Amino acid sequence: MNDDFTGCLLVWCGFLNSWVNGIPVKYNLGPSLSSRVDQRAGDRARSTSDSAQVNISRMLGQQAERVMALGEWEERWQQDRIGFHQPTVHRMLEKNLDKVLNGRTGVRFFFPLCGKAIDMKWLADQGHSVVGVEISEKGIQQFFEENNMTFSEEPVPEIPGAKVFRNPEKNISLYQCDLFQFSSSIAGRFGAIWDRGSLVAINPKDREKYAALIVSLMDNDCRYLLDTFLYNPDQYRGPPFFVPDEQVRSLFGSSCNVELLQSVDALTDRQRDWGLDSFMENIHLITLKNSSATK
Ligand code: SAH
Repeated sequence: MNDDFTGCLLVWCGFLNSWVNGIPVKYNLGPSLSSRVDQRAGDRARSTSDSAQVNISRMLGQQAERVMALGEWEERWQQDRIGFHQPTVHRMLEKNLDKVLNGRTGVRFFFPLCGKAIDMKWLADQGHSVVGVEISEKGIQQFFEENNMTFSEEPVPEIPGAKVFRNPEKNISLYQCDLFQFSSSIAGRFGAIWDRGSLVAINPKDREKYAALIVSLMDNDCRYLLDTFLYNPDQYRGPPFFVPDEQVRSLFGSSCNVELLQSVDALTDRQRDWGLDSFMENIHLITLKNSSATK
């Protein structure tokens, strides 16, 4: 094989690899071509996947130390800087709801970092029950008020300072507390989880702790729908943070099956304003290994 052809093959393998991983090729900043062409054939595949790995680690490193304090989220709510809120049901939830329900009715849904997502009312209207966790009391109250629902307010004995806001007719309970204080001893386990703006919003250093908590909240038949974003973290510091598929698999893969359901180009003017020129949205379906949810 001549060097030109070998080079082309390596570039193409890198392209394929980076797209298989769901990351646009222009962000796969591997070693230069000249340093690659003299490698022996047996080293090539390994080298390509090693360089993709190195690149993903480097990209993750960009945001690894980024911290959003809870007070900063509250400040956003107080100042109405809540660009993450969508006025309509999330298209990925709508599109993949059948896969989440898997024929079940009256499912207990968990919404980590729920904000005032309209999706909660949409599911409750279909007869499902909803438990959410959100640090901002303003966000929770706005959810009920904007959806014309009355609500009760009670302390949560297990979590000092926390409150739970409920609408019993619709079966919606929203806990106002830090997610990391929440556990299955408070509201049991769930049959479904809709994770939009949650794994991508918590501080990157907390991802392992987050995955362990989420898995501990999954009932045996739980179907967990996870929304993640892929973009170049050199261009924007988040949130939402960059969460590559490799990390989704490494966070959940030991106890769960992880299936990539959909990958769509989600670039809009909002992301262009952040400085991004590429923004992919990926949806994963996660189920416990050997659970009834996979059948
Ligand atoms: N899922 C919602 C909101 C996403 S934005 C939606 O789709 O619209 C992230 C939300 O999480 C914000 O409302 C923020 O106030 C809240 N939040 C951030 N960190 C939190 C934490 N550790 N515990 C509870 N809520 C948190």
